[in-house]
Formats: sequence, structure tokens, C-alpha cells
Amino acid sequence: MLKKLFKSFRSPLKRNAHSRSTPEALGPRQHSLQRGQFSRNAVNVVERLQHAGYQAFLVGGCVRDQLLGITPKDFDVATSATPEQVRAEFRNARVIGRRFKLVHVHFGREIIEVATFRSNHPQDESEEDSHVSSRNESGRILRDNVYGNQEDDAQRRDFTINALYFDVTGERILDYAHGVHDIRNRLVRLIGTPEQRYLEDPVRMLRAVRFAAKLDFDIEKHTAEPIRRLAPMLRDIPSARLFDETLKLFLAGYAEYTFDLLLEYDLFEPLFPASAAALRHNPEYTERLIRRALANTDDRIYQGKPVTPAFLFAALLWPALPARALQLQDRGMPPIPAMQEAAHDLIAEQCKRIAIPKRFTLPIREIWDMQERLPRRSGKRADLLLENPRFRAGYDFLLLREDAGEKTNGLGDWWTDYQDANDSERRAMIRDLSSHNDEAASGPRKRRRSGSRKRRGAGQASE
Ligand code: ATP
Ligand code: MG
Repeated sequence: MLKKLFKSFRSPLKRNAHSRSTPEALGPRQHSLQRGQFSRNAVNVVERLQHAGYQAFLVGGCVRDQLLGITPKDFDVATSATPEQVRAEFRNARVIGRRFKLVHVHFGREIIEVATFRSNHPQDESEEDSHVSSRNESGRILRDNVYGNQEDDAQRRDFTINALYFDVTGERILDYAHGVHDIRNRLVRLIGTPEQRYLEDPVRMLRAVRFAAKLDFDIEKHTAEPIRRLAPMLRDIPSARLFDETLKLFLAGYAEYTFDLLLEYDLFEPLFPASAAALRHNPEYTERLIRRALANTDDRIYQGKPVTPAFLFAALLWPALPARALQLQDRGMPPIPAMQEAAHDLIAEQCKRIAIPKRFTLPIREIWDMQERLPRRSGKRADLLLENPRFRAGYDFLLLREDAGEKTNGLGDWWTDYQDANDSERRAMIRDLSSHNDEAASGPRKRRRSGSRKRRGAGQASE
């Protein structure tokens, strides 16, 4: 298919990915892109800016994805106009960001993000004129708010495949970093010297994995080489940014494969240290549970169903919980408070790495609490649980644990039957429980019905 996309274009094989000062320009007959394939609003933004005398291009993920036949998630525009100049051209535009200003042009629900050409700070810049350094001692970029020309803008981008500009007027692709070559060869390759680019921004390691998973590309060997060594640098990234990145990693529809790559490149540990420890101590169960949760998430996204980050984080962290609760029990704490305190500590610790917002940590706790309550069904308890807004998530989570091999004595099936049962059947099921009085309070019972009933769509509850 790629051969067809790049009809007569032949690029010489180049090993390094230093960007060039004059771009390779691919005319309309050398590639398959047409302006009609892009969002009309995005094309309008570009044309308006061009008419006003500025340079403007579609750039980044939308050009890359469109070349690969993937529907772009959103459309980014790069321009020589400053944010203020962009805003002056559109009534529906808002300048956002303090550190680096961008303009959002709104068209109903669609937002076109317009960024002014930016420049990388040189590694050995003289800081004499500025009192504040723009990098820290390891080379990490702390501020990248310097405007530049289009060539600078290409150079500061992360991967060659993300540095392609589409000129909607001439239907040309401008390729500064051999991105087209790498798209044809299905390679994720950093622009410039990989180690330096990771030191500038360690999140690029996660982005390498994310694009490799999403596009089913290989990570080019020089781009891959430093990752394991530099992975611990992710510990210094602000936890709020890592929350955003983690969602992008796990909610793009390729979470299970992304997880493989994160493990392969030692990137999982700095993101989820407690889960990584659980993977070492109880590898089979932990990996199975996380894998099932991620596969469910991928399925739901594929089917267009909603997914909640709370369920995902609940699953990613759950295997780390028992060891902690047991430690507290060893110190004399009863099981339920031990579990609750362990949950609290685990989430607090995790939030130091990945700032999971409260609107998700509360449901995570509720999903976990529900695991303690689901076995206790006597009297009115089962009906009260059914009415609990978090029941569905808790029940799905129970099925997930069972799928991962946890022994619950048929509790999932009991709840499946209970939901399907009518009133009198329900009374009988509860009576049946108390006749096995050892479990009315906690222990689950044997399955009441044959396994012929289909479980209620194991997956995850919507929010
Ligand atoms: P998608 O939107 O499909 O996730 P994308 O390539 O559009 O992929 P964005 O995060 O939207 O990714 O970023 C837009 C563009 O900005 C990228 O294509 C890349 O050129 C540039 N970019 C984003 N993050 C970085 C970074 N950390 N370092 C360098 N360039 C970056
Ligand atoms: Mg994008």
C-alpha cells in the first residue's frame, strides 16, 4: 500500500536523521495526499493564514496518519504568524498556554490547534543574555518558548515521521528529516542524536513506544538503544504530565501491545513502581490481570464504547494491593481496615509518579471496596449493592480477577445469576446463602445454576 502512496518518489537511503536545511518537496504526483482528505476547518485555517501573508501548513500526526491511511485524531497547523497575529485573523480563536502560547481555533466541537514555528534551544547556548537557563544540568528543556523559522520548527520536533508539513495550496509535502522514507520503512526515528533528544525531554521515550504501538512500526535501532538506560529519567517528569501521557498510552486502542513495549524497554517500572514489583513477585497472576484489563479496554475502544481511566488504574494497581494489606495485618490490623489503608497508601504513592485526579481516585477506591463487599450478600446487602452506582464496575472487576485466575468460589457467577433472577428467585438465593451460614457474612457459595448462563459482558463499566 505504501508503494502506492508514494507513487514515483524514491528517496536515497540515509542513515542519520539530521534535518536538512532545504526540505525535500514532494509534488502532488509523488504522494497520495489530497487537501480534500483533511478537515475542512483545518484547511480553511491554513488558507486564511496564507491569504494574510503568513506561511501555514498542516503538520505532525495528521499528515503522518493520513499517509498511512489512518484517520487522524486531530489536525495541527504550524505557521509563521505569532499567536497574537493568528488570533487577529479569527473571531473564534483563543490563545492558550502561558509557557508556550498556542491558538485554538474553534469550529463548533472541532478545535484546530495552531502553533507558531518554534526553535530548539542549542545545547551549548550562551546564557549570558538570559538570566534563567532554559535547560537543566542534564540537558532537559525547561522552557521552549523561542520562535523560529520553519526549518527550526522541523528540527525541534521529535520523530522524523512527525516533521512532515503539508502545503494545502500546492498539495506538496515538505520533508525536512526524511520522514517519508521512515514512513515507507515503518520506522520510528528521532531527529538528531537520540540520547540528547531524550535528555531534553524524557517523555519522548514514551512517545516512541506509543507511536510504535499505534502505527505498528519498529523503533529504529539508534532510537531504541538508549531507552533502557535512560528510562529512570521519567521519575523526574512532573506527575501531571505523566498522567496525560499514560492516558494516551492506554486509551488509544493499542494498550496491550503498548504494555509489551513498555516492559520491553523498562518503561513500565518508572510509571508504576508498585505494579512492577507485583510483576516480579507474582508474575503470572499480575501479568494476566493487567493484560486482560488492557485487552478489554482495547476491545471497548474498538467497539466505540466508553472506557473509564478509573477502571484501568484500578486494574493496573490491584496486584500490588494484597502484599501491602498483609503487611499491615501482620502488624495486627484487622483485614478490612488493612485493605483500606493499603489502598490509600498505594494510591498516594502512585500519585507521586502519575497525578491521578481525585475524580478517578475515588472511583478506584470504590471499585476496590466493592471487592470486599461483593462476597457479603446476606439480608438486604445484595440488593443494596445492586443499587450502588459503582456496582457494575465492581462486578466487572470481580470477573476480571476471576479471569486472571483468582479463586473466588464462583462469586462472579452468583452475581451474574442474581442480576438475571426475578424477586422470588433472589429471595431463594439469599436464603440459600444463610443456610450455608459460614458464608452469609463473607464466603462465597457454590454456583447455584449450571454454567450455561452467559456472563454479563465481562469488560469494564462505563463511568
Ligand atoms: P497523535 O495526535 O496522533 O497522538 P501527534 O504526532 O499529533 O500524534 P501530538 O502530541 O499531538 O502528537 O503532537 C503534535 C506534534 O508536536 C508532533 O507530531 C510532534 O511533531 C510535536 N511534538 C509533540 N510532543 C513533542 C515532544 N515532546 N518533543 C518534540 N516534539 C513534539
Ligand atoms: Mg496531534
